[in-house]
Amino acid sequence: MRHPAPTAELAGRVGEAVTSIPLVDLAAQHAAVAEEIAEGWRQVLARTSFIAGPQVAAFESEYAAFAGTRHCVGVGNGTDAIEIALRALGVGAGDECIVPANTFIATAEAVCRAGATPVLADCADDGTYLIDTDAVEAALTPRTRAIIPVHLYGQAAPVERLLPLAAKTGAWIVEDAAQAQGARRGDKSAGALGHVAATSFYPGKNLGAYGDAGAALTESDDLAARMRTIGDHGSRQKYEHEVLGLNSRLDTLQAVVLSAKLRRLAEWNEARRAAARRYDVLLSSAEEVIRPRVLDGNEHVWHLYVVRVPDRDQVIKELHAAGIGAGIHYPVPIHLTSAFARLGYAEGAFPVTEQAAQEILSLPLFPEISPAQQERVVSVLMAAIQHT
Ligand SMILES: *Cc1c(COP(=O)(O)O)cnc(C)c1O
Repeated sequence: MRHPAPTAELAGRVGEAVTSIPLVDLAAQHAAVAEEIAEGWRQVLARTSFIAGPQVAAFESEYAAFAGTRHCVGVGNGTDAIEIALRALGVGAGDECIVPANTFIATAEAVCRAGATPVLADCADDGTYLIDTDAVEAALTPRTRAIIPVHLYGQAAPVERLLPLAAKTGAWIVEDAAQAQGARRGDKSAGALGHVAATSFYPGKNLGAYGDAGAALTESDDLAARMRTIGDHGSRQKYEHEVLGLNSRLDTLQAVVLSAKLRRLAEWNEARRAAARRYDVLLSSAEEVIRPRVLDGNEHVWHLYVVRVPDRDQVIKELHAAGIGAGIHYPVPIHLTSAFARLGYAEGAFPVTEQAAQEILSLPLFPEISPAQQERVVSVLMAAIQHT
């Protein structure tokens, strides 16, 4: 069979495909662990222990050691981990939980699923996009039973400033550490800063499963036991259901993936840090671009590299047209989603979050991103900004 010679137009398209850069490249990561996972999965398939296989307990103790907490309870996903933590703490109907307005919707969703009411707080106007601790103080009421700081984009929120606020009303600090696996604040890991933490192993997170998975972390033996019970139909012994629970367990097949990837996570986070430093340098003379700020005392793990640019919607269009997978985290603040219109907040209630939502842009970032790919991202970004 004869093939027609490629036309200039076709060749150009091939060239574009080669230089397209995704926001996250999971294929590159999979290549590093493919064999180990295949071997681990063969063992699970041979034993057919798909739920509660020995690999689950093994991963839980590995992750607890990594996170620096006594307990890690594997659950079905990160949203469930928050709900289960709240329920285990006895937070429910009539209680309020303070949640940032600038987060993924799951943080607020889980509060409602537990039967409590989310009370939103604006993010700080300091370039970190983390919850504003003054806004948290202003949102406290006698009904506040939990504060849920989110370690957004890969850096820890200043939990030490929230602990004394929580103590005022006897509230718990439940960390949402879904975006911060391996992040540190001072001498502690994100997830070990409050009373209990939830994390997500959604595939795109720094530690990602091959499907849904999550975990709850705590120092408390009692709380860990309660969370494990709630996530397994309220049961410690088969068919003895002590409390109303739900079905949210970590699958054995996912535990195999997570153990294999956890062994490389420190190295991958270091590669993310190197990539973030490279973006910092490449963007250092770009006055129109506001770079992310790292809070003193934080070791950031760069789940996302979020900049602010003028005319963001036009800029992102040009990036996408050039094959660059930029994202927005998040385009609609919690209170402006239809799902949470019922909370009754008006537009303008959280001005810092609302303005950020108009201007933020997440650039491609993953451990394997190359300097050439980052240079291309920045050159397309700068050209797009010049056009606007
Ligand atoms: C991903 C994420 C979650 C939810 O995790 P799932 O595993 O998708 O349920 C919660 N909070 C934040 C901040 C997240 O990024």
